[in-house]
Formats: sequence, C-alpha cells, structure tokens
Amino acid sequence: MKKITISFLEVSEGWQKKLIQEAFQNSQYKLIISPNKLTAANVAKYSDSDALSVFIHSEITDGVLQKLPQLKIIVTNSTGYDHIDLSACKRRGVLVANVPFYGENTVAEHTFALILALSRKIVDSVNRTRRGQFDLTGLRGFDLKNKTIGVVGTGHIGRHVIRIAHGFEMKILAYDLFPDKSLESHYPLKYVSLNQLLPHSDIVSLHAPYNKQTHHMINSRNVRDIKPGAYLVNTSRGGLIETSALLSALKSKRLAGAALDVMEEEGMISEDSGLIPGNLERDKLNTVLENHKLLSMDKVLVTPHNAFNSEEAVMRILTTTIENLRSWERGKPVNIVSGS
Ligand code: NAD
Repeated sequence: MKKITISFLEVSEGWQKKLIQEAFQNSQYKLIISPNKLTAANVAKYSDSDALSVFIHSEITDGVLQKLPQLKIIVTNSTGYDHIDLSACKRRGVLVANVPFYGENTVAEHTFALILALSRKIVDSVNRTRRGQFDLTGLRGFDLKNKTIGVVGTGHIGRHVIRIAHGFEMKILAYDLFPDKSLESHYPLKYVSLNQLLPHSDIVSLHAPYNKQTHHMINSRNVRDIKPGAYLVNTSRGGLIETSALLSALKSKRLAGAALDVMEEEGMISEDSGLIPGNLERDKLNTVLENHKLLSMDKVLVTPHNAFNSEEAVMRILTTTIENLRSWERGKPVNIVSGS
C-alpha cells in the first residue's frame, strides 16, 4: 500500500516533533519534519507530499503548488491564511484547513501587554533602570480608565480585547463588517463606522483578517482622521496598515505612538531573511526601508509576530493541526477554509 507522505515544516522544537511522531507512528505514514519554511527554492524536497503542515512563514503560491503534484491538503498552524493562495489551491483541488480558535485570549492578552507598555512607558522604564537610572523624567504615562478604545474586527480575538478593555473601565467603540449586536448588550460598547471610530478613539486596535478588502485599511487618506495624540496597535496582519501613512502620522505627531506585532513585508526584516533580493519591487523595498525607520523610533514598540506564542496556545495549535490531518484522513475534514 502506498504510504501517506505528510511534511511538517516550520517545526523546530523537540516536544513538537515528539508529539507529531507519536500521533503518526503507524507504518502507513512517511513523515518529513523540518524547521525550514517552504519556499520556491526548496519545494522539490517535498514533492511527494500528500499533506503539508506549515506556519505563516511558508508562502504557498501557485508556483509552489505546481511542484507538489500529489498534494491534497495544506494545514496551516495559524488562524490567518493570507500566506496561502486559496484560489490556486481550489483550482488544483487542494484543501486548506486552519486553526480557528487557538489563541483568541492569547492574542488579546498580548494586545494589552503592548497597550500597557505604551501607556506606562514600560520599555523605557526598564531600559533606564537597567542602566541604574531611577529618575522619573519623561516616564509619566496615562490611565486607560475612561479612555476610548476603538476595536476594529470583533471576532474571536476582538471580543476578548473588548472583555479586557471593559475590565480596565475603558469606553469601547467597535467596527466590524458583521457587527455582533449581542456584544452591545454585554458591554458598554457602540458599533460605529471606521470613519466614526478613528476620530473618537484614544487607542485603535486592529483585529480584522488580511484580505483584498482590508489591505491598507488604515491608509494615507484616513490616517488624518485619527484623533490627534492617539495610539495605533496592530496584532493582526501588517498589510492592514499602509506603512508610509503610519510613518508620516508618527512623524507629524498625529499619532503619539504605535505598537506592532506584525508589519508589512515582515518576512523581509526577520533575522533569517538575509540580503534583500535584488528583484524586489520598489513598493516592497520602500516598505522594508520604512519598517527600519519604525523600528528605530522610541514611540514605536515592535514585537516579532509573537502574540500567539504562549505555552497554552502553541499546544492548542499542534493538537488542532494533528486533528485537522486525522479528520481529513477519516474523510471528514474539519476547519476547512477553502474546499476543492
Ligand atoms: P475572526 O475571523 O474570528 O474575526 C475577524 C473579524 O473581522 C470578524 O468579526 C469579521 O467580520 C471582521 N472583518 C472581516 N473583514 C472585515 C472588514 N473588511 N472590516 C471590518 N471587519 C472585518 O478572526 P480572529 O481569530 O479574531 O483573528 C483576527 C486576525 O488576527 C486573524 O485573521 C489573523 O490575521 C490575526 N492573528 C494574529 C496573530 C498573531 O500572532 N499576531 C495570531 C492569531 C491571529
């Protein structure tokens, strides 16, 4: 009988490898487990894969899919799936499954870690005491109580942000394509349009998925509508913000600061990306340069797409990934975001 080849990419920790090997120890499987991300350059190594498990750093384009002729399912170890060309998958009859519910509180807690780091100048405070400097000059922050948070996207993560904001006695504005009116009865929250949310929020926090519709949701036109002195927080996807608009709003002091767990073209600035490819489009190159400016600004806090990364969440991600593959094998795939 032909073995089922499952390639698990972006797996770098021993405990993950052990759990995967235990789950698929039967001799009917051929397992490939690698810390590498899938790229056009290395895809040939995985050409006999029936199933593929990846994280967000593997960009699955039509060209990559073309080199995986046996592929039947891609399981992404993430909620977002904007790194996968869904229409190409559909055309080629490849299913795509995600992990829809691993980290709704996890990402919301990180969002508040960032908000508090901004509001109480935690990074500066710690850096200064490390240098033995204990004076308070320039370290005065602001209360969250009675401030208004504008939550963009009130799905799994956004609603936990709302819950936590309510605990801080913040006022809450929300914007979503599909408002959940039940939230208005649980919290002192008002759904408004994005145009109304931006001028009235002291903190704007983004929790919508990235797609064609949300590309540059915050851009050079509407960044001018943001309340002067407000803060922008993004733990969703970098492409929601037009980087040049963010940079100019910070320079002009329209925005007092920003906290970003995600950045546009973040793959290009991560440590292992090495040299910027010579054929990089001008827009992308500009974004990479602007990201470096953002990284050097004191009023900008950047974390390395780490919001999902709690002990509890990574365990949930792996167990759901394994279950996604098992259900596919049983012929009843779950958590499918794109069917064939
Ligand atoms: P979700 O699908 O439960 O919620 C998204 C919400 O956004 C939905 O209510 C939806 O109606 C709304 N929405 C969709 N398009 C919109 C638009 N054009 N305008 C306004 N609202 C819109 O997703 P979630 O679990 O809350 O996750 C949100 C995003 O967070 C994911 O798509 C992912 O990109 C990101 N995420 C980041 C991390 C991280 O580590 N930084 C981890 C998990 C998820």
